[in-house]
Amino acid sequence: MNSVSERIHWADVVASSVKGDTPHRVATGITPSGPIHIGNMREVLTGDLVYKAMVERGLSAELLYIADDFDPLRKVYPFLPESYAEWVGKPISDIPCPCGEHRSYADHFLTPFLSALSELDISPRVYLSSELYRSGAYTKEIATAIGHTGEIRHILERVSGRTLPPDWAPFYPVCSVCGKLSAARILEHDAARSTVRYHCACGNEGTADYSRGEGKLVWRVDWPMRWAHFGITVEPFGKDHATAGGSYDTGKEIARRVFRCEPPYPVIYEWISLKGKGAMHSSKGVAVTITEMLEIVPPDVLRYLIVRARPERTIDFDPGMGLITLIDEYDRVSHEAAGREYELSRIASIPTRIPFRHMVTVVQIAHDDRGLFSCLSRSGYDVSNAPNILRQAERVRVWLRKYAPDTVKFSVKEKLPPHLKDLSEDDTRALSSYLEFLKALPAWSAEAIHNGVYEVAPRCGTDAKRLFEIIYLAFLGQVRGPRLGWFLEALGKEFVLGRLSEAVSPCVL
Ligand SMILES: [Zn+2]
Ligand SMILES: [Zn+2]
Repeated sequence: MNSVSERIHWADVVASSVKGDTPHRVATGITPSGPIHIGNMREVLTGDLVYKAMVERGLSAELLYIADDFDPLRKVYPFLPESYAEWVGKPISDIPCPCGEHRSYADHFLTPFLSALSELDISPRVYLSSELYRSGAYTKEIATAIGHTGEIRHILERVSGRTLPPDWAPFYPVCSVCGKLSAARILEHDAARSTVRYHCACGNEGTADYSRGEGKLVWRVDWPMRWAHFGITVEPFGKDHATAGGSYDTGKEIARRVFRCEPPYPVIYEWISLKGKGAMHSSKGVAVTITEMLEIVPPDVLRYLIVRARPERTIDFDPGMGLITLIDEYDRVSHEAAGREYELSRIASIPTRIPFRHMVTVVQIAHDDRGLFSCLSRSGYDVSNAPNILRQAERVRVWLRKYAPDTVKFSVKEKLPPHLKDLSEDDTRALSSYLEFLKALPAWSAEAIHNGVYEVAPRCGTDAKRLFEIIYLAFLGQVRGPRLGWFLEALGKEFVLGRLSEAVSPCVL
């Protein structure tokens, strides 16, 4: 038995440790510069869990998601056509979308991500950096930052150990000629007009009005500026920001000395890696996106993946058999009385779920949706919510196609497989007895069908393992298959009796 302290969930620990003014604001944010993968998802889920734990403690709290869509495109990523070279350096909210169906490049990646969030029962207040900058929301803070250029520069050099160029400024104007957001030299600052005069690398000398979004603060200053602007009290972030001298360290000092606010309580999280593929990075184009993930993983199980591991632990996710193990574990946790992990994972709006393993069997038996529903009904499941059932079935189909190991795949043969002609007399006798046993069953139920094998085999002097093999052979043409009782139950009595009668009939021998 664990001691009580060991059983307090990490989200509750964070929720009880956070200081600062209420309402608490939990900030999350991701740059939508590429497909948003399950590794990024950890940030928003971590924030959501802390936020929910705070609300449950009676604290007034809010969850924010700030999309960094005003960041410039850094380079032509491997998943982009070469033609994107002309957009490098421009804000991703102003770049055309790669598929042509979204408002912008940023939107292209943000839209599926936001719908994944709602499927995962996460409803943050969403802010777009581009809108915040362009609406003038940050005007006061930008003026403060530019006004403290010397002090910020001193903090950055001292804490991070970097050396900054002599004409460095915390603000990057958008050049009126080349359109790029980059380190132009700031010549003059007019705080009353919210403008700077700059000299861009392209040669242009111009004026940028930061109250209209004609530029942005550099990342290391932008971050603490937001803490001040929104009053952020908690923020999860990846370990790359948490290194000594990293952006959290410099942010803390800038927050206190320049913006006069306390930095948020940090929740540092580790990466999620995909078994056999390493840590996920969207810029390398090898990651599994959150949308792809939700194609196979039920949303509450995906929450559980993040819930059960403390943020500082790496998650090594195996989308093959590992997914089934994870789902089984989640199902076990859901039956525990004091299931805090279950409470934090479950999604109230999700109606009954068919066990994933059973669905794996059923979708491989059924030829179409009607077949699917009748299989499930035979197995005693409520199929009244058709869209929900079809969604679950589709997840399993995608899983079978993309990630499942061959050992779980099978197909029910339309005709009696020819191997059955080689059955010995003993085999045939055992199979006949099993057939008689099935015929006499008072009810067509998985457990009885399954246990029958153990009852019949010894009576016929056959090994139960051999009898299982023969039965699988009769339906699948292979000696292994899904759990027999549940498999035959789903196939239906009529079909099973018909096939076994054929297998033992003399014309086959
Ligand atoms: Zn698009
Ligand atoms: Zn320029």
